[in-house]
Amino acid sequence: MSAQANYKSELVGVFGHPVAENPTIVMMEAAFRAAKVNFRYLTIEVLPEDLRSAIDGIRAMSFRGINLTIPHKIEVMKYLDEISENAKLIGAVNTVYRRGEALVGDNTDGRGFLTSLREEMDPAGKSFIILGAGGAARAIAVELALAKAGSIVIVNRDPTRGKALADRVAGIGGSKVAFSPLTARYRPPEGTEVLVNATSIGLFPDAGRPDLDYSCIGPSLLVCDVIPNPPRSAFLLEAASRGARTLDGLGMLVNQGAIGFRLWTDLEPPVGVMREALAREFGSA
Ligand code: NDP
Repeated sequence: MSAQANYKSELVGVFGHPVAENPTIVMMEAAFRAAKVNFRYLTIEVLPEDLRSAIDGIRAMSFRGINLTIPHKIEVMKYLDEISENAKLIGAVNTVYRRGEALVGDNTDGRGFLTSLREEMDPAGKSFIILGAGGAARAIAVELALAKAGSIVIVNRDPTRGKALADRVAGIGGSKVAFSPLTARYRPPEGTEVLVNATSIGLFPDAGRPDLDYSCIGPSLLVCDVIPNPPRSAFLLEAASRGARTLDGLGMLVNQGAIGFRLWTDLEPPVGVMREALAREFGSA
């Protein structure tokens, strides 16, 4: 065996059920190669009834951490040693990392969005409209409230879910929070500074965009999408055609992956490499 050889790999995985094709694997493996660390990122199918054993497994096998997809993001909280404050407020964990022997649950989705947003503006005091009230919307709304957004309006098709999110965010304090139903006649109010699509509409192969009144969208608005694939979603193309500035979901996905990379490796993430790998995967490099 050569003195250079190192057969030990540090393991990070994504637990999901069912295991969908997960582009994160391409991004993380590219990042590990660029950083010259002997890490592997694995896609692992875990049935809901096996989640506790799977978490025991990552302790036994000394995984550096994991990502979690639906349906594990809430249930996993029972099996971890610590939960970050923002994951508690969001009510879901998408990233687990190790601190000593402890497994810590965190949520990086909203912080990934905020990292992209901060390249355009400071959210403090600004007015936001968020379309959607699912996991992505919840993570973004909570982080915006923590970042002292001036106002946040949750706009959702299902009013019960929408109102529940508005109540959750209002409980954080600091931002003015309201709910509006999402209908084809919905029109973002005058003075809105940022409009975010956090619904699942437009994710490949769906080529749709949320049904609303786009007539008030213009150059004064920053329009953001959580949809990473395609990065130029129908929603962003419509907004850009009306002169709005846009922010894509690819950047959010890269930035949340970069936060995970830092938590697992204690190294600075090669963000450019990660974005390029994902864009290539989505055929938009
Ligand atoms: P959820 O299933 O939790 O929520 C979906 C949301 O979309 C709900 O608010 C739902 O409304 C709304 N919605 C879906 N279809 C329609 C429709 N036809 N008309 C109106 N509203 C609709 O999903 P997530 O929040 O977990 O994920 C949403 C998207 O965010 C996904 O496409 C995912 O890929 C993306 N995402 C991107 C990330 C990134 O880093 N870029 C990170 C995480 C997620 P209702 O409540 O009325 O059903």
